[in-house]
Amino acid sequence: MFKYLRVSVTDRCNYRCVYCMPEDGVRKQSHDDIMRYEEILVVIKAAVESGIEQVRITGGEPLVRNGIVEFIADVAKLPGLKDLTLTTNGALLPKYAMALKKAGLNRVNISLDSLNPKTFAEITRVGDLSAVIAGINAAIEAGLNPIKLNTVLIPRVNDSEIMDFVDFAVDKQIAVRFIERMPFNADERLAADPYVSQAQVMAVIAQKYQLEKSTDESLGPSNDYLVTGSRAGVGFISSRSQPFCQRCARIRLTSSGYLLPCLDSKVGVEVRGLTPDKVKETIKQLFNEKSSWQKQYACYASTFESSLSKIGG
Ligand code: SAM
Ligand code: SF4
Repeated sequence: MFKYLRVSVTDRCNYRCVYCMPEDGVRKQSHDDIMRYEEILVVIKAAVESGIEQVRITGGEPLVRNGIVEFIADVAKLPGLKDLTLTTNGALLPKYAMALKKAGLNRVNISLDSLNPKTFAEITRVGDLSAVIAGINAAIEAGLNPIKLNTVLIPRVNDSEIMDFVDFAVDKQIAVRFIERMPFNADERLAADPYVSQAQVMAVIAQKYQLEKSTDESLGPSNDYLVTGSRAGVGFISSRSQPFCQRCARIRLTSSGYLLPCLDSKVGVEVRGLTPDKVKETIKQLFNEKSSWQKQYACYASTFESSLSKIGG
């Protein structure tokens, strides 16, 4: 059965990352289109009762939605849930990290695509690097461990910073994960551009650090390593150079209430307003369908949604 559910609580965001959204943002869903927290809880509860062990709250930027801390507290109370996590761009963590920890959030992944203020502003279009660094420090202080940074490398934009990211992770004793950029239709200039592969990144890191394969069992698709002689980690989400479809146990809930068995799904199944039993039935059906796939690589050419901010990255 699916083990991992990603829940997008909003399609809105305070950033406009070039690989994720067009400059003027994605067409926003109206308030009525976005599921209310009570409706999302019904789906998460049914999912946990169906075997989901890990729930990740994401978006858009989950921390821009009002009431997010109270919602996290409600999810954390669900019996049977083993791990509750959040993916954020980090800008609002100085305000929320401690409250999220108290609400029962276990840990955070924080997106960080550059350690250079100018490049950071270029990639996020509107972001301020110092706010995210403050957010990372706030998460460390709050004990939202293990903290993982998510880094999407773009050729000739931030791929010269690979070693800086690993140095940063070693210094903070946290993990950095390099994500191979997926060709969503966010920015036409990027659509044709190649990604930076795990092998390329590892070759750079090897000039200074030795990596040993982590023995931790993870539910995710990440290839995880430890930096020898340190408590820092380096991970790779290599959906393009090393497709992991065959061991993917993930399902996603969009902010408008559709369940997607894959990022590459062409169709979603609406579960908003269904009874818990119907939601469970849908999850089972989607699992059976997904189990029969022979897919090896998702091309994202015409997915259900054109941006990860809408699907819940
Ligand atoms: N706003 C939050 C954030 O940035 O962490 C959560 C949502 S964001 C869609 C989740 C993750 O998806 C981020 O780490 C982001 O870098 C990643 N992402 C977005 N578009 C992507 C793409 N085209 N290829 C690879 N990763 C992508
Ligand atoms: Fe917003 Fe996250 Fe997409 Fe960047 S990656 S635009 S922070 S949703």
